[in-house]
Amino acid sequence: MDCIFCQIVAGEIPADILYQDEEVIAFRDINPVAPTHLLIIPKKHIPSLAHLSEAESSLIGDMVNIANQLAKREGISESGYRLAISCGEQGGQEVPHLHLHLLGGRKLSNELG
Ligand code: AMP
Ligand code: ZN
Repeated sequence: MDCIFCQIVAGEIPADILYQDEEVIAFRDINPVAPTHLLIIPKKHIPSLAHLSEAESSLIGDMVNIANQLAKREGISESGYRLAISCGEQGGQEVPHLHLHLLGGRKLSNELG
């Protein structure tokens, strides 16, 4: 298994894990671009949003709920934050395991692309 996020799920490589349940795990991004930069991922290996089946799509709602809770815990719920999912090469996705970025703690750029 050469997926770095699957290795984090399996406990084979270390991560600063902030939350986990049966389906989802959240940890700090190793190369943060904002004071709060967390990744919320499904434990199941889903390569990207484009590979998400309709049956799996409720996972996204779960991930957003967890991100909202973590934003509160990080103290950025009031100041604001951004949730982002990159999909595929032109979408800027580098790790081919579906993940939701939670970014906050500074004023983020208004540019999305
Ligand atoms: P993306 O460009 O959307 O695919 O985002 C991948 C993110 O994963 C980047 O922000 C990386 O800094 C982050 N990342 C890569 N390897 C690790 C790791 N071992 N632990 C935590 N975050 C990682
Ligand atoms: Zn994976």
